[in-house]
Amino acid sequence: MATIIRGGRVLDVRAHRADAADVLITGDTITEIGAPGLAAPADAIVVEARGRLLHPGLINAHTHAHGNLAKGMGDRWTLELLLTAGSWISGGRSLEDKHLSAKVGAVEMLLKGCTASYDLPMEFPAPTPEGLDAVASAYAAVGMRAVVAPMVADRSFYEAIPGLLEVLPPALQQDVEKLRPAPWKTSVDNMRRALAGWKHDRDQVRPAVAPTIPHHCSDEFIRACVELAREQGVGMHTHVAESKVQAIVGLQRYGKTLTAHLADLGVVGPRFTVAHGVWLDGDDMKRLGDAGASVAHNPGSNMRLGNGLADMRAMLERRVNVGIGTDGANCSDNLNMYEAMRLASFASKSQRPDVERWVSTDEVALAATEGSARALGFEGKLGRLAPGYKADIVFLDLGHVNWIPLNDPTNQLVHTEDGSAVTHVMIGGKMIVQDRRLTTVDVTALAREVENARERLARVNAPGKELYEKLAAIVGRFCPGLAHTPYHITRYVGA
Ligand SMILES: [Zn+2]
Repeated sequence: MATIIRGGRVLDVRAHRADAADVLITGDTITEIGAPGLAAPADAIVVEARGRLLHPGLINAHTHAHGNLAKGMGDRWTLELLLTAGSWISGGRSLEDKHLSAKVGAVEMLLKGCTASYDLPMEFPAPTPEGLDAVASAYAAVGMRAVVAPMVADRSFYEAIPGLLEVLPPALQQDVEKLRPAPWKTSVDNMRRALAGWKHDRDQVRPAVAPTIPHHCSDEFIRACVELAREQGVGMHTHVAESKVQAIVGLQRYGKTLTAHLADLGVVGPRFTVAHGVWLDGDDMKRLGDAGASVAHNPGSNMRLGNGLADMRAMLERRVNVGIGTDGANCSDNLNMYEAMRLASFASKSQRPDVERWVSTDEVALAATEGSARALGFEGKLGRLAPGYKADIVFLDLGHVNWIPLNDPTNQLVHTEDGSAVTHVMIGGKMIVQDRRLTTVDVTALAREVENARERLARVNAPGKELYEKLAAIVGRFCPGLAHTPYHITRYVGA
């Protein structure tokens, strides 16, 4: 079955141009892009795109399905306070809640021009095949692409940070005892079952493995994850050097950086994605770049949690593949990839006065499309409007005020657009968003189901909130103390 999109202007990110062109799609793949009037089979479906800018679907390189039901629950949270809040804001979830939470995220991303995501859902005390399927089937039902990587650990946050458990009063030590994840063998067995029994089309929703934070996992666990990923031919994704506390704990625990530690365990390779990397040093970046690894850069989350600004220029110089992400709604509130691009640009520009070291809008737009595609393991299939690529296409209304006037489409995509000019979103040649409405989800019904879940979870998690408040008083002092430890990193050795 063929589709021809006629009359649109196709964005060429690198050239900062958007010339009139028709796009021919056969099945789910772009087969030709040519001058207006491009020949198409007589029975091809015609999609009218006059007054529309067409750009490749944005790809969110890092988010968390469970975060969506916790949207807006916190304000002045460091990463460590967010982790402390985990059992309160993400606790007590049924399979249905897990499905709903993923769906809310997919709906938001789609309406804001994002067609694929790398999603790290959390289940406590261990991932389950059913829980992962609840997330994967939400993406499949909505019609969005995703890599679903269960976020796993075998130490609690309190065990992971040296000295933290010891400063808790005995009663709280007992309470956090219950927050320890399952033994690693349970998690690995469950993931192996989930991956072996994966029932979704891997071009649409595929699995991966995510030992969440290096020091939250024993070395044996990480090695077992590497083995599992290799055996199943899937990617790996880990939060690395997200906060200064993590960077310091890495040195305390391992006598080397977290990246060096992961490299020693065999994690670092072309199918490995680092989330954040705010506190990577030059050697870490070189290690990642030389291995063909990726970083999912989440500037909004990094600012929101007070983690600092990652150095995208230095990563690119070290040949690290950089993708752009939003992180979860529990720590960056929205899943708006236009905003994430804008912040990635601003984060670079705010770090130094040397304009030649600032990332450009085309570098940011390429990171949010081709870079993220590679991080997800979809390189050569997603992230570009070109023959041979999947027909994942966003239609922007050039009559929207964001585009009045249209001066430079690449600059305006990254710096001006905020998602409000998105009219249609096509994935694999199918319209998933048409005239600003989802064709696959009844959002009104979804809102009702989510409200019921929210009410019930607020009740179920009330004791978790109480515990959080007690713990936050201690974590909120202990971790900033660690973060005030003098720590110098050589951010870049470049020009
Ligand atoms: Zn994350």
